[in-house]
Amino acid sequence: MNLPSTIQLHDLSTGYRSRREEKVISQHLELAIAPGEVVMLMGPNGSGKSTLMHTMAGLLPPLSGEVIISGKPLSSLKMKELARLLSLVLTERIPAGNMSISDIVAVGRYPYTGFRGSLRPEDKAVIHEALRACHLDGMQERLYSTLSDGEKQRVMIARALAQETPLILLDEPTAHLDLPSRLEVTTMLRTLARSLGKSILISTHELDLALGWADTIWLMDREGKVTASAPEDLILDGHIERVFGAPTLSYDRERGEFSIRQSGEKKICLRGEGLRYIWTSRALQRLGYEVCPSTGAYPEVELSDEGWVLLLPSGSRSVYPSITALLQALP
Ligand code: ADP
Ligand code: MG
Repeated sequence: MNLPSTIQLHDLSTGYRSRREEKVISQHLELAIAPGEVVMLMGPNGSGKSTLMHTMAGLLPPLSGEVIISGKPLSSLKMKELARLLSLVLTERIPAGNMSISDIVAVGRYPYTGFRGSLRPEDKAVIHEALRACHLDGMQERLYSTLSDGEKQRVMIARALAQETPLILLDEPTAHLDLPSRLEVTTMLRTLARSLGKSILISTHELDLALGWADTIWLMDREGKVTASAPEDLILDGHIERVFGAPTLSYDRERGEFSIRQSGEKKICLRGEGLRYIWTSRALQRLGYEVCPSTGAYPEVELSDEGWVLLLPSGSRSVYPSITALLQALP
């Protein structure tokens, strides 16, 4: 898979320059995205994700270095040329007035028609296809203002698709969405990258989403430094914990999630297997227990056919029908 990159960042430094000072956010970035690749730009709030996105989209001048899009320096591209290479989806709600879904998606055709240009049959076909890809067919006459957040986000993605660019940048596209809509938008973007060969960059501060769905993560730390790799490497080498961790949180590398750091004062032994073992173990950890192999010195829970059997060091033995009942009985 050695296709030429859709976008390359060469020694790119981002930030804000005013007459009095220069505020550097990220320095010396060397990054690229291949066709068909989904990259998630992940980092804590305020680390510099939007700053990087805006710089890549030509909305903010780089402090130094270069952005190359489809082989051409961004700084050499005219607005209309750039609009045929890159589309940008921002989180800010747009004041859409009385615009319908199809009106908004049609805006994506402006690099080809001009703002006042009327739509040709081929433009209409592209709009139709974008609506279909975003599961909006049949809804095109609905007013944008009447849509749910998830539907609005799909409309903005359809607009970006109608722009027919090899590169799509989306800044926190799932920020206002509930869990099913977040997954729907994310998996839809992945399908689009695969089927149309588009390069897609999605910024997010949502760890689980990025770890589950990105081909590559650009992990941005609080200093604006970016590490690019497969999600799994970032878990294995402890990067995720370093960037998102806190003294009270520990990252469980097997489960891929943060939990409250256990004090190790409360121990319990758990014997059993399968799904019941996994979820009982989670419940015990949530209550602050460190779950360890059987030793006899601590309370012990055994998963049997009867239910959850609690054995205390005193020798008492009780059986509970559920995790709820077990937790209530624990010391
Ligand atoms: P993120 O998108 O990761 O939450 P941002 O890129 O929005 O982070 O912000 C990164 C840093 O840049 C923050 O410290 C923020 O205060 C600063 N910043 C954002 N916009 C501007 C601006 N227009 N001028 C100066 N500093 C800014
Ligand atoms: Mg941001």
